[in-house]
Amino acid sequence: MATTDQEAGSGWDEIDLADRQLVHAGTEWNSELYRIATAQFDKAADILDLDPEFRARLREPRRCLTVNFPVRMDDGSVANFTGYRVQHTLTMGPTKGGIRYAPGVSEGECAALAAWMTWKCALIGLPYGGAKGGVRCDPHVLSTPELERITRRYASELIPIIGPDRDIPAPDMGTGEREMAWFYDTYSQLMGHAVPEIVTGKPPVLGGTEARRPATGLGVVYVAEAVAERLGTPLREQRVVIQGFGNVGSVAALELEAIGATIVAVSDHTGGIVAEQGLDVRAVADYVAEHRTLEGCPHGDHVGRAEVLEVPCDMLIPAALERQITKENAPRLQCKTIVEAANGPTTPEAEAILAERGILVVPDVLANAGGVTVSYFEWVQDQQKFMWDMIEIQERLRRLLRGAFSRVAETAEKADVDWRTAALSVAVQRVAEAARLRAIYP
Ligand code: NAD
Repeated sequence: MATTDQEAGSGWDEIDLADRQLVHAGTEWNSELYRIATAQFDKAADILDLDPEFRARLREPRRCLTVNFPVRMDDGSVANFTGYRVQHTLTMGPTKGGIRYAPGVSEGECAALAAWMTWKCALIGLPYGGAKGGVRCDPHVLSTPELERITRRYASELIPIIGPDRDIPAPDMGTGEREMAWFYDTYSQLMGHAVPEIVTGKPPVLGGTEARRPATGLGVVYVAEAVAERLGTPLREQRVVIQGFGNVGSVAALELEAIGATIVAVSDHTGGIVAEQGLDVRAVADYVAEHRTLEGCPHGDHVGRAEVLEVPCDMLIPAALERQITKENAPRLQCKTIVEAANGPTTPEAEAILAERGILVVPDVLANAGGVTVSYFEWVQDQQKFMWDMIEIQERLRRLLRGAFSRVAETAEKADVDWRTAALSVAVQRVAEAARLRAIYP
């Protein structure tokens, strides 16, 4: 005879009411990054005096799919992996956001990153809501065939909620063109025909664009350029420090050097290098291309990776991880401007200290929006079976980012708020207006 859960002793009846109430809406997203994203949203919502109805509707993600799946490892054993896909808002069109492979991937981390994607897309005016996903794993210890099997299985697990008009993934930390090619192939195999518009950030030969890989770093420079113009100090006269020398950091460093800026320090997870008179960024990039990291790089003086953030400069560009500028190091930073290339590099506590010290923070949702903007171009091109050249894409990117920059700078001035709050309030207002017009189903 079948037994109910209670008869089988599931333990649920033993949890007292107070504990049960702890499992309230929002608890599932609980993470430090989500706390930061929500605090930023609340601040913008306060400035807008946002109706409680929209505050509740926009604060939390609409959907999350958690998947656990087995993968055959190279040694014949089977390992179980956990993956997520969070869709923050379904109001603006399909959702869009990267896929991250890292040991710290969690539902809460994806939720925060998905919310930031919503605000980023709304700020630029792209017809997307935000999403983010990932697989909890360490890609550095997995072989290429293992990563391929993880990617293919994860892609097939996401089928119920993704699609070229539903949710379009892209690369994020730990993934790149290679993973997007596997993802595209898996989806297309299951659909029975090629669907290049299911992911962006694909290799150009598969319907990607040459402009996607450098897009985020280039966008960081376009925004930095606009900031420098507004402050009356041209980029070519600035001394710049960059944390992180991966896709975003290295492209930004090379482009800034080409403009004439002096790159005084860069770092990666192995450490940092500093040169008062300026680094030869091309030579550093060539070294990293050959050796993968800055370890043993013969250029500049070696320092610890944390010290790099405190090197005196005009502009600091965090382009590595979240939560790098904290209340501990914020009092010691020696820069005038911070341009956030990474997602969530500054904690709210640090931001308060920086504001007091008069250090301008150019927020991630504006500074690193170049990636999703060029992803949007790629998606449009794939849908239309059409190609634009690199120059055309760069011009369109620059125009959109400069437009968003002006909206943020003007709002910050008019409302007398910091640039992050200004950027989020522009974005939140746009999404709230769309939610109001679409109203509530049924
Ligand atoms: P990446 O993996 O190519 O590079 C990350 C870099 O950070 C590497 O050089 C790594 O060594 C370094 N790093 C890691 N930990 C560090 C530490 N503790 N100190 C110093 N350096 C450290 O990643 P990416 O694509 O360049 O992304 C960097 C950041 O930009 C992430 O926050 C990502 O979410 C954000 N971002 C990326 C894109 C994109 O298109 N790639 C778009 C928007 C935002």
